[in-house]
Amino acid sequence: MTSSFSSLPLSPATLANLQQLGYEAMTPIQAASLPVALAGKDLIAQAKTGSGKTAAFALALLAKLNPRWFAVQALVLCPTRELADQVTVEIRRLARAADNIKVVTLCGGIALRGQRASLEHGAHIVVGTPGRIMDHLERGYLTLEGLNTLVLDEADRMLDMGFFDDIATVVKQAPKERQTLLFSATYPEGIEKLARQFMREPQQIKIDAPAAESTIEQRFYEVNRTNRLETVGLLLNHFRPVSTLAFCNTKQQCKDLVTLLQAQGFSALALYGELEQRERDQVLAQFANRSCSVLVATDVASRGLDITQLEAVINVDITPDPEVHVHRIGRTGRAGASGLALSLASMNEMGAVGKIEQYQNAPSVWFKREDLPPTGSGRLLPPMVSLQLLGGRKEKIRPGDVLGALTSTEGGEAYTREQIGKIQVTEFCTFVAVDRSIAQAACAKLNAGKVKGKSVKVRVM
Ligand code: AMP
Repeated sequence: MTSSFSSLPLSPATLANLQQLGYEAMTPIQAASLPVALAGKDLIAQAKTGSGKTAAFALALLAKLNPRWFAVQALVLCPTRELADQVTVEIRRLARAADNIKVVTLCGGIALRGQRASLEHGAHIVVGTPGRIMDHLERGYLTLEGLNTLVLDEADRMLDMGFFDDIATVVKQAPKERQTLLFSATYPEGIEKLARQFMREPQQIKIDAPAAESTIEQRFYEVNRTNRLETVGLLLNHFRPVSTLAFCNTKQQCKDLVTLLQAQGFSALALYGELEQRERDQVLAQFANRSCSVLVATDVASRGLDITQLEAVINVDITPDPEVHVHRIGRTGRAGASGLALSLASMNEMGAVGKIEQYQNAPSVWFKREDLPPTGSGRLLPPMVSLQLLGGRKEKIRPGDVLGALTSTEGGEAYTREQIGKIQVTEFCTFVAVDRSIAQAACAKLNAGKVKGKSVKVRVM
């Protein structure tokens, strides 16, 4: 596979623009997906932020665009405003090659009126969140009759946030004759359902993650028996990662560490074998939705854990197996963002550290405990808080029901989608993450109102 953009059927102006932008070679996801996407085929690509996925779909939709025709020809659905803004910037950058291509961003939290005016001035490309796009469609401000490319970006996150029905509503208003491109970091069940309903013989592309070392910064700290667990708190207060997975070699060490961290005011939970399924679900839900800062786990318990955003991994104990070490640290730095792998080793673990050095063919880099002053202001708190609804699949609750109850204007403040995180429905209960600042009020609103026409009991976890 060649990685030069010039191997693609792109206009000379586009190629010149790419060169100006400093895009010298295609990233792996671009090399795999652009030939397919430029040929007009539907595509499911497993790719993360930082992989160059935006350009992978942007170049494809721009290649088909007719700037002289004032109709929305491409629509990009994103889970959050933040991502929509990012995507808009990248599309504008890549669109510089052609004249006057108008890109409009439509997300919640901003007055409809201004967005409507932007649409009236003619938009070629719309980027936005499903709910707000739906609003514009319902009011007739936006039509999709001229659409030829539909992109579902970070589809897994959109599903997490309960957007399936909204996506379906939007897609139904798009012409059948169109190209659909789906990008997703993970590949949960729902993706297949999306593909079955809305795509035509999509080609699937998956790029293996690049070598762990490339985005992971490893730091080693020498500790002793008395200060090992304490050092974890120093690391957390110094680096202030939002989500940290801390590995211990034994269940007892997990329990001891969680007890200490909780006493120090951290939001920490333990995951080890022998937890009941219900307890395990609760722990995982809270960690995955960013309402718990630290998950302390044994290797066995963490198997199969699929958490995409992990700022740091801490090896509280060094594992005697270098392969396990590489596996542990490979869980951070995944989203193309740089990850931090912090390892604590005592004198009698130096043999294991040596094995890791050999296995990785790189020396370990040591830092001092003394150089870990607290940074930032105050306690490290997770950005989100979990609410637990006593009702789940058994009660036929779906994520959209919870989202609807929170964003509705009835019975209190209407929250925006951006204030609401992951919604996870399990058999008997539902977990929803909300912005820390609205946790109590959102809980009160849900308790007072109805979800799926019924009152439900809700508690802050
Ligand atoms: P994304 O994964 O789409 O968020 O892209 C990550 C970053 O990589 C963005 O800042 C892009 O501008 C940049 N980028 C995308 N494709 C290339 C490329 N082929 N060469 C260099 N940088 C790129």
